Amino acid sequence: MYMTTTTDDIKRTDIYRVCSNCVMDTTDSNIKFDENGVCERCNLFYKQILPTWNKGDGHTEELNKIVSQIKKDGKDKPYDCLLGFS
Ligand SMILES: [Zn+2]
Repeated sequence: MYMTTTTDDIKRTDIYRVCSNCVMDTTDSNIKFDENGVCERCNLFYKQILPTWNKGDGHTEELNKIVSQIKKDGKDKPYDCLLGFS
């Protein structure tokens, strides 16, 4: 089996683009942009994550409980927790 490539496909992959909202670009071969040049990851954040995100208002007690539990679980260990960022 082989894949055919149209001229449009070649043009699309050859054009370097950067999201108009973040630093994601076409070095991610699967990236897609909306009509405003905003990538799908930004749209996912704004449409699905942000509306349900607990921003901390009125939730300090909840956060403090989580932090206390993390510190308790990490007692006598070199680190309390590990956070990954990209
Ligand atoms: Zn983006």
